[in-house]
Order: sequence, then C-alpha cells, then structure tokens
Amino acid sequence: MKRRETKPVKIGKVKIGGTSPIAVEGVIKTKTEDTVSTIAQSKKLIKAGAKIVKIALSNMVAVRAISKIKDRIDASLVADVHNCRLALESIERGIDKLTVNPENISKEGMLRIIEKAKEKEVPLCIEISSNSLERKFSSERKEVEKYREVLAEEIVKSALNTTEFLEKESFSDIIIYLKTSDVLTTILSYQLLSDKISYPFHLEIPSIGSSLPGIIRSSISIGTLLFQGIGDVIKVSLADDPVEEVKVGYEILKSLSLSKRGPILVSCPTCGRCHTDLETVVRDVLSGIEGIEAPLKIAVMGCEVNGPGEAKDADVGIACTRYGGVLFKKGKSLRRIKEKDIARVLIEEVKKMSCS
Ligand code: SF4
Repeated sequence: MKRRETKPVKIGKVKIGGTSPIAVEGVIKTKTEDTVSTIAQSKKLIKAGAKIVKIALSNMVAVRAISKIKDRIDASLVADVHNCRLALESIERGIDKLTVNPENISKEGMLRIIEKAKEKEVPLCIEISSNSLERKFSSERKEVEKYREVLAEEIVKSALNTTEFLEKESFSDIIIYLKTSDVLTTILSYQLLSDKISYPFHLEIPSIGSSLPGIIRSSISIGTLLFQGIGDVIKVSLADDPVEEVKVGYEILKSLSLSKRGPILVSCPTCGRCHTDLETVVRDVLSGIEGIEAPLKIAVMGCEVNGPGEAKDADVGIACTRYGGVLFKKGKSLRRIKEKDIARVLIEEVKKMSCS
C-alpha cells in the first residue's frame, strides 16, 4: 500500500507526515489540573505506545499545568482549545500542538494564534467539524439525495478555505482533522481532500455509545483510509479506559502491517473439540505480555486437530489437547504441558524470545 505523500510536521519530539511512521495519539481523561493523576495516566498511555498525549485545557489553571506535565512525561503534549486566550497562553507555556476549530474563534483571534504559533513553531491541527457546517444548512438542504456527498464537499471546501487563509499568513505547520460522526462521510471527506492538499491528516471518529460500536466504527473508518494510504496520526475514541483506545489504535495499525509494535496473539474461536478454558488462557496470556514490544506472533489454539498448523506457524504457540497442550516454538513441537501451566509457560517463552 502506497502512502499519500504529505508534508512532514513536527509535534514536539514526534514527526508526522513525510516518511515518518503513523503515530498513535492517546487522550487523558483526568482533570488536567490534577497533575498527579494526569501524569500517572499519561505514563500508562505512553507504555501502551502513545507518542502523542492530549490533555483538556478548559481553564487557565489547566493551562498553567502544561510545563509541569511536560517535564514528567516522554511524549508530545497536545490539546484542543476553543478560546483565543487559552490558545495563546498554552502556546506560550510549551504545548506541542493545538487543535482549533476556526468556526469557534474570531478571525482576529485566529490571526493572533497563527502569529504566536509561528513564533514558537507550534503546529496547528485544524478541526473542520461537520456539526459547525450543518448548523448553517437549511432543512431542505439536509433532505437532498446524496446528502453525504454534499456534506463531504462542504467539509472539503471549508478545509481548503482555512488552509488558504493560513497560507496567506505564511503558516504551513498544519495538520487537518475532518470531524464527523458518520463513518461514510468521514471516509468520503478525507478521500476527496487527499489529493487537493499535502498537509498530514489526523484520523479520528468520535465515539458514540459503548466501546464495541466505537471499536468497529474506528476500525472501519481509520482502517479503510489507512489501507488507501491516507492518514498520518490516528486517535481511537471510545467510551472506555484511554489505554484501550491506544491498544485498539495499534491493533488497527498491526492489522494493516503499518506497525510492528508488540506481539500479535492469534487464537481460535473454540468449538466442541476444545476441552480447555481457552478464554481464560487468552486473557491471562494477554495480561502477562502487556508492555512487551517485540513483534512476535503467538498462537493459542483449542485442539490437536486444527491447532498444530497455526501453532507451528507462530513464533510460539500452543495446541491444546484433552490433557493439556503441546508447546510449539518456531515451527517445532517442544513438549507437552499441563493445562494449569499453559498461560504461564507461554508468557515465559514470549518474555525469553523478546529479550533474545
Ligand atoms: S482449532 Fe480446534 S477447537 Fe479451535 S475452532 Fe478449530 S477445530 Fe475447534
């Protein structure tokens, strides 16, 4: 898959666009001003692979916490702001990227933000929100056939107008985020814009409801675009623990071979042939290998009929039997193990292989 050619942009220490790897952004869900909890949660996201960490800046107390948080974490710190005063102060205090929706800020305010961002070399992520545009649509316009196409064209037009405005001010450290909660409109909008400008894209689809639909919607929208070479930074949005959002982000990248970070665990869905509590084994193995970065393939298979093939194909695998399991490593059958030892042995083998 050929990636869209984009302009490299630096977000603090992290480069996106150009030939840089696709970055995964995580979001902090604590109150920013509670710096102890914010730093603790940032560290968990970074351990899960987040290179960019987003905080909420809803007041000046939160803005004043920026340098304290930055000093204690090894990731780029970014934020969304809907207010010129908070934007200017957060750039002054060292934020690494700001997301702004130009619909929420006056033209004069935007000019001041651009000037400050230029001075401090801070990139601006331009959020073009379908909600802001749709508010201006008449009810008849919302009822036209092919409404998604109409909306996507408006989103693209708005993105182009905004980038033109920024370019006139000689500002080009731009990232684009097209925000809509509809999967098809998201895909269509990014596709339409992708060959019109070369700024890097932030891909994210806001979560709706519980985490399962969120995972599916993110996987389809982000995955489809990445498969077409579109996207430079991704953020999965779920009504869940933010560490899960980062993990899902990496699973999307790994599914498309766009990241090699961390093991891939393959397990069978089980059927009547399985005599092992495979669900518990898989859960225990996943929790035991958390934090391991080596790109190993692990297989946990439910029976001796169809299990050995997949287990042999993995770096390390187990094919369960009626009496326990057979351990495979790099295609070779090593030994039989008891059911109670399966998860522990697999975790030990993965740890050994990740150090070698
Ligand atoms: S590997 Fe065995 S237990 Fe698992 S689904 Fe296939 S046949 Fe069933």
